[in-house]
Amino acid sequence: MSESPPFTIVGAGLAGTLLACYLGRLGYRVELHERRPDPRHHNQDRGRSINLALSVRGLHALREVGLADEVLRSAILMRGRMIHGQAGDLTFQPYGKDDSEALYSVSRAGLNLLLVEAAARLPAVNLYFGQRCTGFDPGSNVLDFQDTGKIAAEIIVGADGAYSAIRAQMQRQEHFNYQQEYLTHGYKELTIPAGPNGAFQLEKHALHIWPRGSFMMIALPNQDGSFTCTLFWPLQGPNSFAALTAPDDIRRFFTQQFPDAVPLLPTLVEDFLHNPTGSLVTIRCRPWHQGGKAVLVGDACHAVVPFLGQGMNAAFEDCTVLTQCLQAHAPHWEAAFRDYEARRKPHLDVLADLCLENFIEMRDRVGSRWFVLKKQLAVALHRLLPRWYLPLYTMIEFTRIPYADALRRARWQDRIVRGVLIGSGLLLLGLLWWQLR
Ligand SMILES: Cc1cc2nc3c(=O)[nH]c(=O)nc-3n(C[C@H](O)[C@H](O)[C@H](O)COP(=O)(O)OP(=O)(O)OC[C@H]3O[C@@H](n4cnc5c(N)ncnc54)[C@H](O)[C@@H]3O)c2cc1C
Repeated sequence: MSESPPFTIVGAGLAGTLLACYLGRLGYRVELHERRPDPRHHNQDRGRSINLALSVRGLHALREVGLADEVLRSAILMRGRMIHGQAGDLTFQPYGKDDSEALYSVSRAGLNLLLVEAAARLPAVNLYFGQRCTGFDPGSNVLDFQDTGKIAAEIIVGADGAYSAIRAQMQRQEHFNYQQEYLTHGYKELTIPAGPNGAFQLEKHALHIWPRGSFMMIALPNQDGSFTCTLFWPLQGPNSFAALTAPDDIRRFFTQQFPDAVPLLPTLVEDFLHNPTGSLVTIRCRPWHQGGKAVLVGDACHAVVPFLGQGMNAAFEDCTVLTQCLQAHAPHWEAAFRDYEARRKPHLDVLADLCLENFIEMRDRVGSRWFVLKKQLAVALHRLLPRWYLPLYTMIEFTRIPYADALRRARWQDRIVRGVLIGSGLLLLGLLWWQLR
């Protein structure tokens, strides 16, 4: 491997650092460049999704690089959704049949730091911080950095997130398809601090949701007893982030919509006014690579909206699959990248749609009786026939079945269940008719 050309990864976020670990462990040389300062010496940004839901796909990748146990030690198990009604009433909806089907709340900054440290321990990996890439020359594969000049690279990996500079350069090539779609909703993070002696002020082992029809708030637990809340709300219009700027209006809105959360949000107005409002974007593009010279991973090639908690998990799965393809095809890098794209792209397109659909489910449907009934039926069927019946959500979060395959399987399962229900109903009616006669 040490005779292979080095991989120059741009972006030491979640995907870039994990890929560096994968490749470094196999002995590939890795040069990793990141625009932000070194997290080992600096605190990370405030107000950007402080915790994330980690599920089976992400955990599998972390296990492959020997980091899963360390990550799990500081993660919080979330067994299901806790739904907060407008009157403060609570309903718990378990995610699955037991704790093997649960999510983990992890700190974004903590996970990123752990991955940076793990990559830095590998002799084959070099890390460079404070280096903002501004593009590359596709002919020579020379990368441009804002302050540090040019660096010649043999194989470039764009792991630089949804606003990727590497993808932007690839977009200038002919036949590069690109599509981005912003939601009209944005998001803002707020904090529920820990109670006395670090106590959790809400149920610790749950992902909390305040569904309110056209918008919602969620909260995930942190290790220190606090919760990070995220309000998803329209960016513009009469009821929107843009319109809500006066402290009294902010208090009034929260008291009306989230009455049980207000006493737990002592810095509500300050947080609301000072934390940034984030955008939610879906990005699709093709191809994901340029010959054998450059390839994209994670949000750089497939940003999805966060309503299935899969962006990071899918980015980690990219690293798993890309590593498999490199091992299968080395030193034919173009074949490896083509195989990687073929194995990932159709599934990430499906995930993008599922994430958009789940926004409607989370904000609008989770509170309804019909939804709860359907979920209960699905969980019961799964418990009864665990090998045969897997709800779509279970397949996405708690298995590694590729996303498009999961959707196909969920559709035929539903067709069979519907057929059985209709058949049993007809049989029952027939029996009733026969009895009456
Ligand atoms: C509100 C919200 C909640 C989310 N919740 C979840 C969740 O619960 N579970 C989940 O799985 N996913 C979640 N996601 C998605 C997840 O955050 C992303 O999918 C994940 O961070 C993608 O990882 P990445 O490494 O591809 O990109 P990023 O994490 O964005 O990392 C990109 C890195 O590249 C660096 N960089 C960018 N440009 C340059 C440049 N020009 N030069 C050098 N470096 C550069 C950045 O500084 C950064 O370090 C959420 C997203 C949002 C917005």
